[in-house]
Amino acid sequence: MRPEAPASPLRLTIDGTALAANWRALDRLSGPARAGAAVKANAYGVGVAAVAPVLRDAGCADFFVAHWAEVADLLEHVPASQIAVLHGPLTPADAAYARAVGVRPVINSLHQARLWHDAGGGACDLMVDTGINRLGVGLADLSDPLIAALEIDVLHSHLAAAEEADNPRNPAQLERWQAAQAQVTHRRAALANSAGIALGGEYLGGLTRPGLALYGGVPCAALAGEIRQVVRPEVAVMQVRQLQAGDSVGYNATFTALAPMRVGVVSIGYADGYLRCWSGQGVMRCGGADVPVLGRISMDMTVVDLTHAPAVNEGDWLEVAYALPAAAAISGLSQYELLTLLGRRFARRAAA
Ligand SMILES: *Cc1c(COP(=O)(O)O)cnc(C)c1O
Repeated sequence: MRPEAPASPLRLTIDGTALAANWRALDRLSGPARAGAAVKANAYGVGVAAVAPVLRDAGCADFFVAHWAEVADLLEHVPASQIAVLHGPLTPADAAYARAVGVRPVINSLHQARLWHDAGGGACDLMVDTGINRLGVGLADLSDPLIAALEIDVLHSHLAAAEEADNPRNPAQLERWQAAQAQVTHRRAALANSAGIALGGEYLGGLTRPGLALYGGVPCAALAGEIRQVVRPEVAVMQVRQLQAGDSVGYNATFTALAPMRVGVVSIGYADGYLRCWSGQGVMRCGGADVPVLGRISMDMTVVDLTHAPAVNEGDWLEVAYALPAAAAISGLSQYELLTLLGRRFARRAAA
């Protein structure tokens, strides 16, 4: 037998208590609706194996993935009847898989409705386009007999600008979603993503689909006090070096020491999702001390300034500052990108 690989010098600590608290807050803010959970893209990069059991145990009973290939990992943790696949069937094989496994496809077009019908049909969801013009059946096509033949659990639509509370697109989309509800037989209706939940009232329907805010993202000011940080990247110091005045650091020598200084080489780079936009911008922390990034981020390494953390040594761990709203402001990346970039080399583990 092959020996087990030694521990990774890069880890992602996942605060399950904060994750569960975020889901409960979003469920409470959903009022009469129940909150589900968008767990597509490996739970936004956090890791579906870490996330799904926590949400399930908190009471979540509706899970959304985008791809058919994302179903199997989720089935390890939640029943098939609680899973819906947002992209819907693109091929007859997709529809056959949905029937065999027992998950619901989200039907996004008349073509998909036909694929589902031809595969034998059964419970499904329907996505209605009310103005975002991505996936979804247009209002004009809702009277098609293919739609009338569907056995619809959730009638979905999706807001284009929910994080902008005053955007007139929101009430316009709400109105079209309500018109669709009047036209199509369904059990439950869903419109709101994380930011949509903050719009409240009529936007809530019977089910909401938060994603970002579950994982610590704050898409709008109204959610700021409700959402806790969930993921904390941590990285080991591989080497400590002493620089002299005039020594430069990293590719293209974008940082040069003005005086002697102690620096650390840590095991994170753009291959881990710590992109080059963090060059000269990122901060790590040890105890209370700030440990700034120096020079360019490399593929697998980053150099940091240990001036204010003189006790840090090789093998010690630094926390990467990654509170999502602040990290987005500094990096120029969206909070969604910051999460979904987190790479495969992180050992994902639950917080103590
Ligand atoms: C990803 C997704 C969501 C979750 O959106 P957040 O902004 O992350 O809360 C909700 N609904 C649909 C259709 C999605 O694709």
